[in-house]
Amino acid sequence: MSGAVPVIRSVQGIRAQVKSWRAAAETVALVPTMGALHAGHLDLVRLAKARCRRAVVSIFVNPAQFAPHEDFDRYPRDEAGDLAKLASVGCDAVWSPDRTEMYPDGFATRIAPAGAAEGLESDFRPHFFGGVATVCCKLFTQVAPDIAVFGEKDYQQLTVVRQMVRDLNLPLEIVSLPTVRESDGLAMSSRNAYLSPEQRRIAPTIHRVITRIAEAAAGGGAAAAAITEGKGTLEAAGFKVDYLDVRDADTLTPPIPGSQHRLRVLVAAWLGKTRLIDNLPVER
Ligand code: AMP
Repeated sequence: MSGAVPVIRSVQGIRAQVKSWRAAAETVALVPTMGALHAGHLDLVRLAKARCRRAVVSIFVNPAQFAPHEDFDRYPRDEAGDLAKLASVGCDAVWSPDRTEMYPDGFATRIAPAGAAEGLESDFRPHFFGGVATVCCKLFTQVAPDIAVFGEKDYQQLTVVRQMVRDLNLPLEIVSLPTVRESDGLAMSSRNAYLSPEQRRIAPTIHRVITRIAEAAAGGGAAAAAITEGKGTLEAAGFKVDYLDVRDADTLTPPIPGSQHRLRVLVAAWLGKTRLIDNLPVER
């Protein structure tokens, strides 16, 4: 196990740290997170370290991406546990500003992503991608990394961030990692901690359903019958489905029949008070 990971809490501090690495011609990767880290997050850090000499992990539960009725207050927080895990994968610094360092009094600017941000999550969480894009833009300018590493687990988020980086000419590369799963297929998520043992047993149904839809879509078309059947399977298992659909993997618009564009199956569904999201590529 390596030594303790330094935790930096001021913009001035993170800039000074990155500046000293730059002075030594070292490359820098950023892994943005909201903490409560699991094995999926640690794989992002391993990828960051494989690509760059230095890896910064940001831990910030971003109030701007939660609506008032959502789980900001009860979102799991475990800084000591996170730091121990990050030390084990060679993280070089944790960037963990408090709320007022990130959003000082008078803060009044917000990025408004459209395009890939429209539909799916936005139909149910209209505030969400504005909050994500704003905090990611700030993280990118605070840390000024060469690359930022994101998980495919949050596929629409990844697409929105790529679009923002392209649209605003932000000088970094976005690198992604396929979703890390439990052995029964459930996508790892900090929110899985909310599940009761009974819900945890049911939760992998999501992965089974999207696997079936991805296989059906691989044969061509929008797999409408498989989607209807999948919704039925999820509802029968006790889920309330927000969306379950096959979309163009790059634009997230409905697929054009007959086109050879890459496709993606995306789902969001509630199990009791816990909202789970997942997605899979259509392999053709
Ligand atoms: P969060 O879990 O919201 O803190 O997400 C921080 C980063 O970790 C995002 O880029 C997520 O997509 C990524 N992430 C979360 N869960 C997984 C997973 N199971 N596999 C891969 N990446 C993940």
